[in-house]
Amino acid sequence: MQTQLLPVTDAALEKAAEILREGGLVAFPTETVYGLGANALNPEAVAAIFAAKGRPADNPLIAHICDTAQLDGLVRIPDAAPALMEAFWPGPLTILMPRTSAVPDVVTAGLDTVAIRMPSHPVAQAMLRACGLPVAAPSANRSGKPSPTTAAHVLADMDGRIPLILDGGPCDVGLESTVIDVTHGAPTILRPGGVTKAMLERVLGHVEVAGSVLRPLQAGEKALSPGMRYRHYSPDGQVSLVEGDEADVVEALEILFRQAEKNGHRACVMCFSEHVEALKACRPHDIGSRDNPEEVARRLFDTLRRLDTEGMDVIFSEVVPAEGIGLAVMNRLGRAASFHTIQARDVLPA
Ligand code: AMP
Ligand code: MG
Repeated sequence: MQTQLLPVTDAALEKAAEILREGGLVAFPTETVYGLGANALNPEAVAAIFAAKGRPADNPLIAHICDTAQLDGLVRIPDAAPALMEAFWPGPLTILMPRTSAVPDVVTAGLDTVAIRMPSHPVAQAMLRACGLPVAAPSANRSGKPSPTTAAHVLADMDGRIPLILDGGPCDVGLESTVIDVTHGAPTILRPGGVTKAMLERVLGHVEVAGSVLRPLQAGEKALSPGMRYRHYSPDGQVSLVEGDEADVVEALEILFRQAEKNGHRACVMCFSEHVEALKACRPHDIGSRDNPEEVARRLFDTLRRLDTEGMDVIFSEVVPAEGIGLAVMNRLGRAASFHTIQARDVLPA
């Protein structure tokens, strides 16, 4: 199959809508990451998403809408949801809703809830309006790879597998949407993202965070958010997170880099903009300013993809505080590192 990469024009949007109506796949930009969409009400079309991504069938998708009227007949809206929809839609918040049988099983991997989001990106909205369908879409990467935040990332993973990619430029948030469950018990963040815990708490009062957000799933533990089960966001090289006081971390990164190179590895560091100069001998990859966690979020997946194209096999990374958008950054970075963490103090000479 020829994959077309088109800038966004009225003609390109009409073409996308036509492909979607006919049961085909379209990659499109959202404010979080690029999505790979299909008509959510057509089981064969949705099955093609799983095939193109190499995605396990038990990992459910998010259904994207541009108008809440599209939910009629598909879901029961939980009591707490209208306030969330009012506050955060359109935007990077996905809300679980009990579903009816009108939603095909393949979308939800057989679960009795379906994840719903109304994206704010103008191209996503225009495409959803043009096709008039709810569009099921996971991230437009091959399964296991970091989510795509540019059209070039999508092309690298999907060339020859899908007919069309709409190029809307780089994504604004850079990490996937926040997933929240308000269907029973305390409101719980299953996956942190662009809408932070503090933002949600302003609307809902206390909000819980699923335990597996900042640690690996334990043996036998049920994944509340099925995506958390899988090796995810992972570059081919081995990533280690380095924690401690700022000056200690910079020194430790240099020591760890030299040791790895001495052992024959192709090593690098992922560090804040402020430390690039001090670490210039350590193949620094600038993750953004220490004072700007939104920038770190925006750049993270591009940096992880670069590590692969540059053939890095050992990577040492700085960390951000796990609060605000930093919780989402550390959830993704932690998984990229299989939660392998080094204390800077343990590396420095006594
Ligand atoms: P992706 O857009 O590729 O990040 O995939 C969507 C993610 O949303 C999945 O991996 C799940 O973690 C989460 N998700 C989707 N539907 C549900 C659901 N019904 N219950 C819990 N989590 C869900
Ligand atoms: Mg994904």
